Amino acid sequence: MGELMLGKRVLVTGVRNKWSIAWHTAEALHREGARVAFSVFGEREEAGLRKLLTDSGMEDAPIAHCNATDEAQAVALMETIGAAFDGELDGLVHAIAFANRDDLSGEYVNTSREGFSVAHENSVYTMVSLARAARPLMNKAGGGSLVTLTYLGAERVVPNYNVMGVAKAALEASVRYLATDLGGENIRVNAVSAGPIKTLSASGISGFDGMVKHVAERSPLRRAVTPDEVGDAVLFLLSNLARGITGETLYVDAGYHTMGM
Ligand code: NAD
Repeated sequence: MGELMLGKRVLVTGVRNKWSIAWHTAEALHREGARVAFSVFGEREEAGLRKLLTDSGMEDAPIAHCNATDEAQAVALMETIGAAFDGELDGLVHAIAFANRDDLSGEYVNTSREGFSVAHENSVYTMVSLARAARPLMNKAGGGSLVTLTYLGAERVVPNYNVMGVAKAALEASVRYLATDLGGENIRVNAVSAGPIKTLSASGISGFDGMVKHVAERSPLRRAVTPDEVGDAVLFLLSNLARGITGETLYVDAGYHTMGM
């Protein structure tokens, strides 16, 4: 076990199963001595998480339910986490995204108003409301670090990513605005832009396997990125090693974003 996060209290959102990027992040945090708490969407996610926790020696970790689009649930979540962590929080991992499956294939021009709103409510506004709700706990801790997950489809056209690419662009802009709002309180806000990884959410994107293959063939490292590599980068941004970094998007994609073609 390492000591990079010894004494740090971190809330991890977005674990659905063992493939989730959030789960690999939690494992990295645990390895480095952090106290980890979890927020999951509902009963189904909690059942899966409990088994993962038992298998990895984290069975005592606090678990709360939160549909993060519900403002009241976000506030209640932070009350629960505050009670578990003496009113303080050092880190928050936002690994939440959702869009209707119909909006992740075909032409972006056909995105419905409702689909546009669903993607932005779940994938962007949840970051804003969780940051606002976590702020008092991080203030009490003397500062903190928030990290979200994004994807290259925010800045380049990736076939079928569509409305989620537009939502990720808004998420990356939100990171910069939140970093500016909260920086005076020693709260840092960053994003990790992960290469394609086969998770449950990713499987909703039409042609996803082809995206992974394409990256594996074209990236400088000539392979796809693994979820534990993404988890380690999130860990870095949460840690004191990244104390001078905020408002940043860090690419963990085997270097794919640097390629011209
Ligand atoms: P995942 O399906 O394992 O995780 C997505 C999580 O979001 C689930 O746990 C789900 O319950 C949660 N969620 C959705 N709406 C919610 C809401 N309203 N309230 C609370 N929780 C909600 O998939 P993942 O790939 O690990 O996704 C995690 C993050 O990583 C997402 O932001 C995703 O866009 C991002 N990302 C994924 C990839 C990839 O290729 N898998 C690449 C770059 C970025």
